[in-house]
Amino acid sequence: MQIREIPTGTILNPTGGYLGEGFTHTINLYRGCALGNSLCGLYCYAQWNPHHTLGRVWGRFLDVKTGFVEAYRAQYNRLKQPVRGEPKPLRIFLSSVTEPYPPQERTARRMRRLLEEMLTRPPDRLVIQSHTPLVIEDLPLLLALRQRCRLEINITVETDKEALPPPFPRHAYLPAARIAALRALRQAGLLTVAAVSPLLPLDDPLTFARQLEAACDRVVLDHYLLGDGSREGQRTKQTKLPMLLNANGWNAWTGLAPFDEVVKTFRQVFGDARVGISRAGFNVAHRDLPDIQVQDSS
Ligand code: SF4
Repeated sequence: MQIREIPTGTILNPTGGYLGEGFTHTINLYRGCALGNSLCGLYCYAQWNPHHTLGRVWGRFLDVKTGFVEAYRAQYNRLKQPVRGEPKPLRIFLSSVTEPYPPQERTARRMRRLLEEMLTRPPDRLVIQSHTPLVIEDLPLLLALRQRCRLEINITVETDKEALPPPFPRHAYLPAARIAALRALRQAGLLTVAAVSPLLPLDDPLTFARQLEAACDRVVLDHYLLGDGSREGQRTKQTKLPMLLNANGWNAWTGLAPFDEVVKTFRQVFGDARVGISRAGFNVAHRDLPDIQVQDSS
C-alpha cells in the first residue's frame, strides 16, 4: 500500500448525477481506499473514477489530503458569506469515492479536524457514510455537531454473512461490528442509516431486517444493477463479483428477484416510510426522515 500526503486547494466538490438531488457537495478527505482489497473493494464503485485513481490499481494506494481545513474555510465563507447575493445551501455527502474512516484515520485524524472546523462553520446537512465502526471514535464531536446541523450517519452493511467462501476477499469489518456501531450511535442520539448497498446474498433476510431495525432509524437498499452509476450494472459486471456469485450458486442474486423480496421483507419490518431504495433512498430530503427515537443506553 503506497501512502502519501497530497495538498488540496478545494475540498467541497459540487455534486451531480447520483447524489445531485439530495446534496450540493461531496467531501473526500482521502484518495484511494485502504480497504480496497477487502470484500467491498471487489465491487467498489469508486475504482471506476479515473480522476480519483489516476490510473492506479484500486486498493494499492491511499493519498491523505492536507490543507483541507483551510480549503473548507475559504469555500464555506464564499458560500455562506458571499460578497453579493444570498448565502447558498450546503448539504454534504461524505464520502462519495473513499472511506472517511480507514484504519489510517486513527493517526491521520482528517475527519476529526474537519468536524472540529464544522463546529464553527456548520453545513446545513451532513451525511457521513462509512464502511467501518471507527466513526464512533468521534462521538463527542458528532454529538456537538448535531446541535449545529442536520447530521446522519450511514454505515454500509451489505450482507448478514460473516464471511463469503474463498476466493471472495474477507470483510474489512464484520457485519456484526458495523451493526453494533449503528446501535451505539443511535443510542447516543444520532440519526443512523444502514446502507444495504449493494445487496449481497443473505442467510436470513427477516432476521437481518430485525437486527438492523433494532440498530438504526432507517435503511437504504440498493443493488448493483440499479445503483453502480452505469447502465444495468455494466461497471460491476466488469468485476469478479457476478462470476463469483454464480460460481457459488448465488446466480439469482445477480438479478433483481431476490432484491425485490428483500425489499418486501424490510418494508414489513421497518414500515414503508423508513425504507429507501437506491438513488431516491440516498437522496431523501432530511425533512422526510423519521424523528430520532433516542434509546435508553443504560
Ligand atoms: S470502504 Fe468504501 S471506498 Fe473503500 S473499498 Fe470499500 S466500498 Fe470502496
